[in-house]
Amino acid sequence: KLYNQVQDLKGNIRVYCRVRPFLPGQPNALSTVEDLDEKTITLLTPSKYGKGKKSFTFNKVFGPSGTQEEVFADTQPLIRSVLDGYNVCIFAYGQTGSGKTYTMTGPKELTNESLGVNYRALSDLFMISEQRKDTISYDISVQMIEIYNEQVRDLLVTDGLNKKYPFTKFFKVFYVINLMNLGLKNRAVGSTAMNDRSSRSHSCLTVHVQGRDLTSGSILRGCMHLVDLAGSERVDKTDVVGDRLKEAQHINRSLSALGDVIASLAQKQSHVPYRNSKLTQLLQDSLGGQAKTLMFVHISPEPDTLGETLSTLKFAERVS
Ligand code: ADP
Ligand code: MG
Repeated sequence: KLYNQVQDLKGNIRVYCRVRPFLPGQPNALSTVEDLDEKTITLLTPSKYGKGKKSFTFNKVFGPSGTQEEVFADTQPLIRSVLDGYNVCIFAYGQTGSGKTYTMTGPKELTNESLGVNYRALSDLFMISEQRKDTISYDISVQMIEIYNEQVRDLLVTDGLNKKYPFTKFFKVFYVINLMNLGLKNRAVGSTAMNDRSSRSHSCLTVHVQGRDLTSGSILRGCMHLVDLAGSERVDKTDVVGDRLKEAQHINRSLSALGDVIASLAQKQSHVPYRNSKLTQLLQDSLGGQAKTLMFVHISPEPDTLGETLSTLKFAERVS
């Protein structure tokens, strides 16, 4: 209900842009972001005739000083709607290093303030289900998967796929945090600093909610997918060969398939091309119809990544 009040007329797809701050120890450089306000971002771009400017508009813009708490405050209504029976997808899009994992999970050293959307979302769902326990009995379970080269891997189990972990009120947030840490650890398996697989796979935390109305006995179901996408940077075909090239092609294809699906939903086209990638196939029930979609697009401030920043913002324009 809350979500519908703040929802833009555009429909069920919203796009937020987040700008990463310069990192400690980075050499001083001029940010490519010249200006931003609550909904618009203006970039300094080189042009044939000297410096140019280009502006992009979103449902919301978070600048370099935007906190995890502020980002979550604008995400919370969407997450709460899952308990009312809506399906929700939240994506983190951007080139490697732009802050996707920071938004969804947080930095390496987590503190209460730096917890990302995933943790806050789960703890919110538990808190509200607890508040409603006299009227609705909720069953909440989670899954965590990774899609790498169009293959799906369960990050929470080693035997069998799509195992759902049930939660009772005894486990709650601590158990979730432990489980997510297990998933994140599994995601890192096989990756070294030079060969960081996590930036070349999509990871998806899914929360299934089933609520039973204690008076009428009626059942509602909702589902939330929190997706940390593979890095969107274009890999130069002349630079990579073999496995690396295959990975890059899978990533390009699946990110454009996702873009195609969301763009066709945003334009209310009758045919939605869900079948072109594993990711969009898996999320089909939660993209379109009554489902709600939020895309976080992340950009880095460094001038040397301006090319990627512009293509990220073009992707964002297309899906909004
Ligand atoms: P990605 O997942 O897109 O590759 P990361 O989330 O790993 O990028 O971010 C890259 C680095 O920048 C990490 O060290 C991360 O902690 C830091 N970082 C990203 N976003 C922010 C932010 N909003 N504030 C502070 N540090 C950030
Ligand atoms: Mg990451």
